[in-house]
Amino acid sequence: MTESIVRFDGVSATYGRILALENVSLDLPANGFVGIVGPSGSGKTTLLRVLLGVMHASHGKVTRKSGLRLGYVPQVESVDWNFPVTVAEVVGMTRSAGRWWPRTTDQERNEIETVLCQLGLEGLGERHIRELSGGQQQRVFIARALFHKPDLLVLDEPTSGVDVSTRHEILHLLVDLHESGVAIVLSTHDLNGLASHLPRIICVNKGVIADGPPLAVINPEVLERTYGAPMQVLEHGGMPIVVDQLEHTISHRLRGSGK
Ligand code: ADP
Ligand code: MG
Repeated sequence: MTESIVRFDGVSATYGRILALENVSLDLPANGFVGIVGPSGSGKTTLLRVLLGVMHASHGKVTRKSGLRLGYVPQVESVDWNFPVTVAEVVGMTRSAGRWWPRTTDQERNEIETVLCQLGLEGLGERHIRELSGGQQQRVFIARALFHKPDLLVLDEPTSGVDVSTRHEILHLLVDLHESGVAIVLSTHDLNGLASHLPRIICVNKGVIADGPPLAVINPEVLERTYGAPMQVLEHGGMPIVVDQLEHTISHRLRGSGK
């Protein structure tokens, strides 16, 4: 069995009196590629924050492999795009704390350009982050996380608000990174577009509802417990496809009304 890099034992987390995570136990191996799935407010971001160590568990225990290097890609919606900063500054920012682009060393500048090339962003270092497409912006934040050569890359909703081709691009990039030896944990509420492509998903709603490969985990019973709504599951090419039953009902009613 592969060595575990992060382990949760009965972890709960709260914001004041709000219980956001309850009694979560999970094990993350060094070669893990895991999607955390659940509706809005189910505790996905909180789970990632506890995993990263920026938020403490109120109960239970989090164990990280010593010396574990973590990279974090925030949700695009949480970024202030008016902040006057260039692509290269975003990538190098945390490394050269307080030192801005013109004052970074030649070596740092080369390292920044290398990671930008790796993500297909070559030559964009001097651009303002606002002047990029959604997919490019997402890659800038992945570049920033990779700059520190993490063992574990944590991404919060990496495909929310991006179009189909960007979603494919991000998924390919993550598969490449995983093949190069980086463990990946991401959160998503996109079951068909993202989660069902991953080798392992964990459904959460405060607690862990199910944990395993998509075909084993994505079923009507687990989905109803996770999302609180009825859903149907079909299978296509060895992958589960989730069909929202409410949509089906609505289209049936609309067709029935003759409009
Ligand atoms: P998700 O990422 O799945 O949408 P979150 O982890 O952000 O869920 O939130 C889980 C719960 O914790 C929700 O009920 C949310 O309202 C609450 N919560 C999240 N962040 C805060 C915060 N900073 N202060 C108070 N409550 C919060
Ligand atoms: Mg969230």
